[in-house]
Amino acid sequence: MLIVFDIEGTLCDAEFWDSFPQTQGTAAKAMSGETTFRDAMAQRFRAVKGMPAEEFYEQGKRVVPRKEAPEAIRILKDAGFTIALASGGFDFFAERIGTTLGAAAWTANKATEEDGLITGHAEPLVDANAKRAFVERLQEEFGFTRAETIVVGDGANDAEMMNAAGLSIAFNAKPVLEVVANVKVRGDLCEVARKSIEHKEKISGKPRVLVVGNINAEKLENNGFNVAAYGDLPRDKLLQLLPAFDALVYRGNEKLDAEILDASSRLRLVARFGVGLDHIDVKHAEKRGIRVVNTPTASTESVAELTIGLMLSLLRRIPQAHASTAGGEWRKNYFTGVELGGKTVGIVGVGRIGRAVARRLKAFGVKIVGFDPFLHPEDFKDVGVEQKNSLEELLGESDIVTLHVPLTSETNKLLDRRRIATMRDGAFLVNTSRGKVVDSIALAEALECGKLAGAALDVFEEEPLQRGKLHELDNVVFTPHIGASTLEAQARIENEIVRVLTEFEASHATTKPVTQNSLAFA
Ligand code: NAD
Repeated sequence: MLIVFDIEGTLCDAEFWDSFPQTQGTAAKAMSGETTFRDAMAQRFRAVKGMPAEEFYEQGKRVVPRKEAPEAIRILKDAGFTIALASGGFDFFAERIGTTLGAAAWTANKATEEDGLITGHAEPLVDANAKRAFVERLQEEFGFTRAETIVVGDGANDAEMMNAAGLSIAFNAKPVLEVVANVKVRGDLCEVARKSIEHKEKISGKPRVLVVGNINAEKLENNGFNVAAYGDLPRDKLLQLLPAFDALVYRGNEKLDAEILDASSRLRLVARFGVGLDHIDVKHAEKRGIRVVNTPTASTESVAELTIGLMLSLLRRIPQAHASTAGGEWRKNYFTGVELGGKTVGIVGVGRIGRAVARRLKAFGVKIVGFDPFLHPEDFKDVGVEQKNSLEELLGESDIVTLHVPLTSETNKLLDRRRIATMRDGAFLVNTSRGKVVDSIALAEALECGKLAGAALDVFEEEPLQRGKLHELDNVVFTPHIGASTLEAQARIENEIVRVLTEFEASHATTKPVTQNSLAFA
């Protein structure tokens, strides 16, 4: 792979000609194509003709590589790139920079002088055509094809050599290293470039989708969507970017409130990974004609399995026993647990996950009771769960309580101090729903005084969880909100997002905003 850099404004911040007051601004004009490079050079030499050569060369010292350039070039060389420099500037700084950076070749102009005074430049002038000829000569000499050539430049004078390359990185001065860093610097770069060019053609005219969070954006790209992906975006950056997008696919902690939904007049779709809609102002979205979707079913089985895992971990103290044994101890008699079989398990919220938990619990020979004010008695019968008519009734009968309700204004602190007091002495609690469903201070107190025997928590009032009272207790099992974190759930979620975006593109083509909220109760 061959990579050819323009020097001034690209590898270096300074523009040589801007150091002379009489030629300031000519670089910008030549770069923008406002004057031809030849005219700019003629104008410049008229201005400096007769200047002492030493004074002229002295200005070349200002042209130095940006401080990150040597490291970036080293990385490129390590990755197998052949480095070359093509400059419309002068050999007295091009040679110095080329040598310092270990470039394989460089081309630049040569100034002419007479009696120690500058008279002009040698022919042929290194203009746009000469730069292209240089690149083509290198391709021939080193045996690189056009597809194996990258050109990085910042002005009109670089356009010709860019045409000789498989990939051009063009920008107006300065951020070369950011640009280089953003490009995947690897041996198959041109393959990447080819794909990205094909992709660009495929996506032109399609709605723009902003993807935020740990989401397989490559899969979305491969499906032909016009996406810009970010691993994480702070709120201010999200607000700043949104106006350029038609859809937001979001997996992050930011509440998608009115301010965010109003940030883009183009926004027509918000797709949020996961089950709950407590992180979106759905009413405001509806008012604005923004369709809100999530992936309510994709993680049901994963969360149910984690729930059972946490239940057994809690009853048999598996995490504590592991930590102790891994630490070199052998406390066989200390880790006496209790069996799940024969106990009464209370399921609060007998929806998708609650039922999936019930199905699994049957294998353990437990009695299952459930409370869900929105279900009919037949719904309980269908899943073999004994219906309780009040939460208090369920709490009073259960050895283990597992929570599977959505977070709503009614379920916020559903398990408060008063309700915890109605639980059986020595009962266990599992929460894989939402942290705010439980009053964590009341819970910590109940665990500390032995009212409750233990708690297993995947979700917390504030996430990420900060160190607090719960950490001091030996009877708590923590996981960092990983209910949906399985390969299978992620794949289902991604497929669902692909389906939603496909639908969205089709509806976008008819330019009608979609106002339907596709969600049931989630
Ligand atoms: P769901 O909508 O299918 O079921 C929720 C059930 O709760 C419904 O049947 C509803 O009638 C019932 N409910 C509502 N208010 C209630 C109340 N006050 N008392 C008792 N029952 C009530 O939802 P689901 O897919 O089963 O998800 C359940 C919970 O799991 C949600 O809070 C969701 O946020 C959480 N979740 C967590 C993870 C994780 O990573 N830990 C992943 C997915 C879902």
